[in-house]
Amino acid sequence: MQRIKGIAVSPGIIVGRAFLVGSAEQVVPHRTIAESEVTGQNERLRVALAAAGDEIGALSERTRRELGTEPAKIFEFHAGLLRDRALVTSIERRIAGSFVTAEQAVADQFRVLVDQFKRMGNEVFEQKANDVLDLERRVLGHLMGAQESRLAQLDAPAIVVAHELTPSQAAAMDRAKVIAIATDLGGRTGHTSIVARALGLPSVVGCQRLSVEVEEGDELIVDGNEGVVILRPDARTLEEYRRKQERSVRSRAALRELSGAEAVTRDGVRVALMGNIEFPEEVEAVLANGGDGIGLYRTEFLWLTRKEPPTEEDHLEAYLRAIRLLKGKPLTIRTCDLGADKYTQEQMEEPERNPFLGLRSIRHSLANPAEFKRQLRAILRASAHGPVKTMFPLVSNPMELRQGKLMLADLSEELEDEGIPFDRQMPIGVMIEVPSAALMGRVLASESSFFSIGTNDLVQYTLAVDRGNERVAYLYQAAHPAVVYLVKNVVRAARSGGIDCSVCGEMAGEPLFCMLLLGLGLRTLSMVPDQIPVIKRVVRSVTMEQCERLARRVGSFDSERQVETALRDELRKLDPEVFGQWMSE
Ligand code: PEP
Ligand code: MG
Repeated sequence: MQRIKGIAVSPGIIVGRAFLVGSAEQVVPHRTIAESEVTGQNERLRVALAAAGDEIGALSERTRRELGTEPAKIFEFHAGLLRDRALVTSIERRIAGSFVTAEQAVADQFRVLVDQFKRMGNEVFEQKANDVLDLERRVLGHLMGAQESRLAQLDAPAIVVAHELTPSQAAAMDRAKVIAIATDLGGRTGHTSIVARALGLPSVVGCQRLSVEVEEGDELIVDGNEGVVILRPDARTLEEYRRKQERSVRSRAALRELSGAEAVTRDGVRVALMGNIEFPEEVEAVLANGGDGIGLYRTEFLWLTRKEPPTEEDHLEAYLRAIRLLKGKPLTIRTCDLGADKYTQEQMEEPERNPFLGLRSIRHSLANPAEFKRQLRAILRASAHGPVKTMFPLVSNPMELRQGKLMLADLSEELEDEGIPFDRQMPIGVMIEVPSAALMGRVLASESSFFSIGTNDLVQYTLAVDRGNERVAYLYQAAHPAVVYLVKNVVRAARSGGIDCSVCGEMAGEPLFCMLLLGLGLRTLSMVPDQIPVIKRVVRSVTMEQCERLARRVGSFDSERQVETALRDELRKLDPEVFGQWMSE
């Protein structure tokens, strides 16, 4: 038995068998294949090598066109290696001789080559070793890009174990087959974690070397409440976790009984509790949990779940489906938030060096105006059918808001000319996710109809801590005084501009932060649907005066430790039985 501590990202306890899934740029999972699989693995190898060859050909041609023949020569070495019969035969022999997968054989044989070049001990050969590594990554990318189809092969319920999963891999999972997720990499508010929560799959990320330790079919316990994975558990541990599992299910069922109750504080202040969704069907879960509407629809999942960019009609169909299910409740559509860890890097020939500071979110949309217009037209058309708001993600400069609004104004005229109905008063809001926007709240408030604070990104950019990197997860602290200060600033700016302000980052769904957010003046919180009942329970247990007192006290602290301790103490006072599982340190 082995106990591995990771980061809890989606609650629930599951016992099941491991199913290993790989991804590009990573540790190759070990799996012994049957003799009958050898031909299939050789065929996969052939297809991957051919695809890598095509890619190198195109890259070489583009480099020659744009930079000249000399720089294009580096690709000759890559192409030559791919044609090298000795190398290809050594990979095929490794598959057939050791019964390993094509990716394992590629990794092994490329490493042999890298070592040979490195041993030659001069700079030219060092560079060649780097070229081999680069080529290895490319070939593995082709082999492991086909991992979604490996997921499709899953025929019995299992726990997906991976070094890393992309948000699109997570979004493509069959919920009837995947019962939990455990990965080596990742952070609590990374997009894959968010999708896992949306799918309601108990998940633990940041488990370091789990995918190397686990063998396909191993029995595992995934404890998404405490962030623990237990490998090959003994009988006593299994029994202990079965009891924990029953308790966790009972307490969630009890909370769900609150779904019909109003979210009102003990002194009569109404708080709107909204849901965050990635797919229109999730509206049902939001309503079943007692949500008041959708505070964040992450529309980029329309791109992540299909091969071609969505058409205007694809957008419209998805929005209308959500509107129909909402039966008059509001729908806040966030325009496409692609970039960084979502999708675009895999599509680029030259991935960005610093993607989280690169062409993502509103910047990506503005750089692709034709695609952006298709989405904006669909949003406008949808607005004729229900209360729709639109908001722009990751605005870091008022110019981006102005450009987005200008495009909406042009498209409104276009629709008007075509006689297509839309809501002329559709509210246009801004997500506050970077410090520059938080600090320029007054300017943005004067030009928009509402704010929604995206704390997942706001924490990452304020503290310079990658939200998806388990190595710095200990520094990713929503309770950091700098974050609390910025949230307070934004709420004030919204109030003085006379506009609404909500929070739609994960902080809004964490019981620990609920009293603080209310005390800072927030009256709308948007979260993963499953968290609505527990947040409602906090709201109904407190008075606004209590929350404001706490916010004032917290405002004077200068360390996240002090802030967290104060929040934990308040929550414990409310009901240690109910909130205990959300207070783990
Ligand atoms: C956020 O950053 O808080 C947010 C809600 O957006 P996303 O998690 O999709 O980046
Ligand atoms: Mg964000």
